[in-house]
This record gives sequence, structure tokens and C-alpha cells, in this order.
Amino acid sequence: MKTSFIYSEDFAKNDYGAGHPLRSFRLKLTYELMKAYGLLSLPDVPVIQAIPAEEKYLLLYHTRDYIDMLNGVNNGVEIPGEENYGLGFGDNPVFEGVYEWSRLVTGASLQAAELVDSGAAPISFNVSGGLHHALASKASGFCYINDPVIVISSLLRKGKRVAYIDIDAHHGDGVQDAFYRTDKVLTISLHESGLYLFPGTGFETEMGEGEGRGYSVNIPMPPSSDDELFVYAFDEVVPSLLKKFKPNIVVSQLGVDSFITDPLTHLKYTTNGFCEVVGKIKELSPRWIALGGGGYDVTNVAKAWTLAWAIMNEVDLPNALPEAFLEQYPLEGFRSRKLRDKEYQETGAQKKKVKAEVSRVILWIKENVFPLISTSP
Ligand SMILES: [Zn+2]
Repeated sequence: MKTSFIYSEDFAKNDYGAGHPLRSFRLKLTYELMKAYGLLSLPDVPVIQAIPAEEKYLLLYHTRDYIDMLNGVNNGVEIPGEENYGLGFGDNPVFEGVYEWSRLVTGASLQAAELVDSGAAPISFNVSGGLHHALASKASGFCYINDPVIVISSLLRKGKRVAYIDIDAHHGDGVQDAFYRTDKVLTISLHESGLYLFPGTGFETEMGEGEGRGYSVNIPMPPSSDDELFVYAFDEVVPSLLKKFKPNIVVSQLGVDSFITDPLTHLKYTTNGFCEVVGKIKELSPRWIALGGGGYDVTNVAKAWTLAWAIMNEVDLPNALPEAFLEQYPLEGFRSRKLRDKEYQETGAQKKKVKAEVSRVILWIKENVFPLISTSP
């Protein structure tokens, strides 16, 4: 097979509750848009039914007591003490099936990893994955089980060198935390600066510890950063580091809450910059496990991940959204009937200020982090 797409109708069945910004319907809308474009019936590209992960895989990262607590609230009923595990209020509500849903999402990421690692499919995409904030014994930032960490841990057990590239608007703090002290995983996160956005971490000075010193790389972007700066920052840092590190496999978190239309964040990317970067990740990856991530403008999520999947399959899509799809989902607020966004560039004094800050960060990384990464044996 050329690539594979892991999916389940049950991805969209969970409900974080009224008023919560994360709508699982976005995954179904993405699937439907891909299908309408014919991207789920390409030759040699199977859509594979997701299977829940066995508990032993969750324990590759999470603690026994946290998994027991998450399992305990699976019926949607609150349990005293859940708050010690980040559960039950605000960002990480307890809902019916929360544990089952988390196992399903993680299982899909593990299936993608198995297909990629075995060589069966050099690229696999799980749009439901990329839940990068979950910590070993704590739910955080809408994330209960950290599927990127579990996937990477399973690859490390097989002796693989893994590079993790995270382009979500939020810092990939859980993944960084898990691999902060090892040189076997290179984590690179490009995100909105923690000065302005959850989780408040991911500064360039966070660069790993002990053997891992230099192997955690952070590119905090100021609010109002646009496509030009996003692509510039990526180009200046990621290709050089990957060429030095020489990973066997790249795991990417393709969060799309970094777009100008996203209600939770302050970056100003569009499909133009996003597609350019996704294309570059494809070029740089010997094998590629692609995961989803954040995204709170539902129609934008569907468009961006459809474009990403087209890039993975080297298919050029027409810009007009399929008529039949628009007829089926007219109330989903598509602002335009086009797949791609118009180009957007920040201008004037604000652009100058933001550009100066991005340049400062990149120079700092080149001087302080680049020399620490040793070339793979
Ligand atoms: Zn995010």
C-alpha cells in the first residue's frame, strides 16, 4: 500500500459537553470532505478500521493509578479524587465513554505506527490522534491519553530513532516532558509563545536535560505570526536538525488551531503556509506517522486535513468544494466555497516587530541548540 488512513465512526461519538470548544464532529466532517473529493477510494490506499489500544500500551507512559481512575469514570459519573488527575472540570470533563474513546484514538495511532514501522505503508494518518498535552498521571488541555508519547515509546522499544515535529498552536508539552532526558527522540515544537497561550511553556531555553540536552527544540512564535514567518521558522530550523539527527521515522502532530480563523489562538496561518510546511515534512520524512491535533474552527479543520491528506497522496485537488458535500453540510459555516484560503500577510509595524522576535529566537537556537545535536552513528 502507498499510504493508509485509520478511521472509526466512533471517533465522533464522544461529547465533551455543551460549551466545550472541542467538537469531535470535526473528525467526521474531515472524513466526509476527504470522501467527497475521492481521497478515501484511491488505489492502494486502504481506510483501516481503528481498534482500541490494549491497556498495556497506555502503561508505556501513563501511571497505573491514572489509568484506573480514567477507567473508573468511563460511565460518565464523577468520582471523588478525580480532580487530582486533572479530570472532571473545565478542560477535561468526564463524559460517558471517555476511557473507551481514548483507547480507540490511541489504538488508531498505534495501528498507524505499526503500518509505517513494518514498511507496509510508508505514510499513515490518524486525524483523531496528536493529543499532546496529556501527562503521565494527569489529563490536560482536552487530552486524556498521550498517543504521540505512546507511539514513540513503542518505536523506541524496537530500537528506532524518532523525530517528533509538532506544529499545533499550543506547545507539545506532554511529549517534550516524556523525552526531555533522552537523545533517542528529537522533539521540535513550533507554537504560539507560552507568554500568550496555554500551556505557558515551550520557550527556546527549554532544550532538554542530561543526555537529552539539545534534543528538545522549541520555536515560540509571537501572536500575529503569519504564513511567511511560519515557513521561514520551519526552514531555518527543522531541515538542518533532521539531516543531522537522521531519524528512522518522523511522527508529526498536525494541529490546525494555528489558523487566522481559530477562536482560541492568535497566530495567523492559512492553508497556504500549512500546506507548504506539510509538504516539507513529507520530503524530510523517511517514513511518516501523521497525527491530528487541535483545531476549533470546524470547517477549517476539515479543509486543512483534507489538504494534508492530498499532499501525503500526491493528489492535486480542485479548489471548489464538491457541490454534493456543500449540500449535505450547508450549516457548518463554510465561509467560502473554496478549499484553500486566500493568501494573508501581516504588514506594517506589527509585522516588523513579530519578524524581529522570530529572528531572535532562531538565532538563539542556532547558536545554542544546533551544536548539541550529534550526527547519528
Ligand atoms: Zn492546540
